[in-house]
Amino acid sequence: MKFTSLPLIVSTLTEDREKALLSKLNVREPAAAVLDEVKAMTYRATTKFRICRSCVEADRFQYGLAFARVLHQIPGIRTCSTHDLLLETACGDCGKEYDFGDSRRGILPGRCRGCHSEKGLAMGHDRSPGYAAFSDIVMRGLLGRAPEVRPDRLLIALERFANLSAALGPDLVKMFTSFWGVDCFQKACDCIGAKPEEIWRSLVSGIQPVSVFGAYGLASFYESGVKNAPGLPAEDVLNASIRAFVLAQKRSRFGW
Ligand SMILES: [Zn+2]
Ligand SMILES: [Zn+2]
Repeated sequence: MKFTSLPLIVSTLTEDREKALLSKLNVREPAAAVLDEVKAMTYRATTKFRICRSCVEADRFQYGLAFARVLHQIPGIRTCSTHDLLLETACGDCGKEYDFGDSRRGILPGRCRGCHSEKGLAMGHDRSPGYAAFSDIVMRGLLGRAPEVRPDRLLIALERFANLSAALGPDLVKMFTSFWGVDCFQKACDCIGAKPEEIWRSLVSGIQPVSVFGAYGLASFYESGVKNAPGLPAEDVLNASIRAFVLAQKRSRFGW
């Protein structure tokens, strides 16, 4: 990942944290120190090295060698957005897992180091509205073009989640799960590469997510699954009913 995923991380930072991080890069602090800080902001799980067969072939045709794609190494990403193909993680003949390749020995990514086969083993994947929205927003995030995950926009989403949870109870969590095309909440969080506790807190209580991919998953759910979803109570109706609820609580407590 190194610094190539920096735009993704920066896009989820508040202005002061963003300035602090970028100034460290400007003053050329030892790269390892900055990298540790960046790593602490990302999801710590590592993924197997993945390739898109068509990307490798296109690179080879154009440059004579092939490059790894940062987007393909992100935990929740399972397809190539350019070619709409499933990513491959291992040799389809002997099962040996792929690694970065070794250009000095003429071994390109996607060619087995063991048996030299170029037949890959594709990842399992079920397409869902959640995945489509998530992969789109992550790709734009890598280019620094995903304003939806900026803290100010995310705050609007989190407030809406908390209000909807207050009104709908567990139905919002169910909506989130089905948005990802799965049958349990844990699996939906696995699709993003975020921890269930983190996503649960954000959906039910509107608490800021702690991981970058959590922020991306929640932003994609808000933008594509909630913002314009038909049949959800409008914000002003919710605010009125929450105000009425608080008032009723006060009345009963103080015996109005
Ligand atoms: Zn591709
Ligand atoms: Zn092999």
